[in-house]
Amino acid sequence: MNAEIIAVGSELLLGQIVNTNAKFISERLAELGINVYYHTVVGDNPMRLTKAIETAEKRADLIIFTGGLGPTKDDLTKEAIASHLNTSLVSDEEALDSIVEYFKKTNRIMTENNKKQALVLNGADVLPNLNGMAPGMFYKTDTHRYMLLPGPPKEMEPMFREFGMPKLAEQLEEMVKIESRVLRFFGIGEAQLETEIMDLIDGQSNPTIAPLAADGEVTLRLTAKDPSGEKAQQLLDEVEQQILARTGEFFYGYGQSSLMIELSALMKKKNYTIACAESLTGGLFQSELTSIDGASSVFNGGVICYSNQAKIEQVGVAESTINQYGAVSEECAVELAVGIQKKFNTDIGISFTGAAGPEPLEGNPPGTVWIGVSFAGAAPRAFKVQLQGSRNNIIMRTVKYGCHFLLR
Ligand code: ATP
Ligand code: MG
Repeated sequence: MNAEIIAVGSELLLGQIVNTNAKFISERLAELGINVYYHTVVGDNPMRLTKAIETAEKRADLIIFTGGLGPTKDDLTKEAIASHLNTSLVSDEEALDSIVEYFKKTNRIMTENNKKQALVLNGADVLPNLNGMAPGMFYKTDTHRYMLLPGPPKEMEPMFREFGMPKLAEQLEEMVKIESRVLRFFGIGEAQLETEIMDLIDGQSNPTIAPLAADGEVTLRLTAKDPSGEKAQQLLDEVEQQILARTGEFFYGYGQSSLMIELSALMKKKNYTIACAESLTGGLFQSELTSIDGASSVFNGGVICYSNQAKIEQVGVAESTINQYGAVSEECAVELAVGIQKKFNTDIGISFTGAAGPEPLEGNPPGTVWIGVSFAGAAPRAFKVQLQGSRNNIIMRTVKYGCHFLLR
């Protein structure tokens, strides 16, 4: 935020008074860390004041006015600003009350003219005047901030210290840029991920690192604050690099992405096609895959082969394999993957077989899962995972593991 101070008053131009208000305000702005680029002095003339505002708006985001808030004819500051900003002046009740109060206290007669002092820019925050009558104002548009202060230093100085500076400090806080980035991980538990980067989490206040576990995945939310508004992304890049140097093998994407979105994008990029043989997962893998835009360019088809009969007849698993090793086995998973890849003539064949529970299957405890992968030009293989939880949970996470293995 950079500021310009516009002091209004023909007395200043005539050399009758010295612009001590600009000096005082500049010193206080420096304390707040706000740069002042220009001091302008303009007489009590609405046309020239409007010109001065237009000029200031081109080179400052904060414009602070002093003077011309009084009740007399030559006090034109708020009228000129209101007309320039296309807003009206409305009577502020609290300000009016305190003016009435002020007249009582000082045993003076209030004139109609004095009511004018309670007029403020419509929508402005009022800065109370504890040492006089004219209230100060703070007004904000999409592009600029304006502060209006009275001329007499004994009114302006305490008002600026007590109400003006806190208001500007609030604005600075608001302007601090906050950027966040979510990193998504799979295949690593929250506790393990936290352990890997504990020193970063503890030692880091900008960006902050917040882990969250849900649906078998772990996310890290990185949040960076930057007062200048320019370095937040760079701060995020730096800490992301540090995190991924240690845990990169489990990282798969950003923000709202999902494993299936990443897998689908990768296959599209490499021009790969896929077919699926699903026992345990009952079609969930294919269902999730088809829910992503452009699935038709990567997904040829698949079979839900829940019974052993279906595995043999539809996908070509040897009866002897089932008899010898069972359906929940490395051998069966591999034959399913190879069989489905052949059947649909794709680059990739993937298969899912396992015990979803609650009862053990063929002596395998619930959650025993084999995922077969057959990839053109490479030896087929199967991965075993041991999961816990409800049937749905096991099935949902098995699909994620399928994506995870293909992404690696
Ligand atoms: P009032 O209600 O007293 O009319 P105002 O907000 O209208 O206050 P001005 O009429 O512009 O302010 O100025 C009132 C007096 O405040 C001036 O006579 C002068 O003594 C002092 N003053 C105004 N501007 C400045 C300034 N920039 N620096 C120092 N003193 C100032
Ligand atoms: Mg005046």
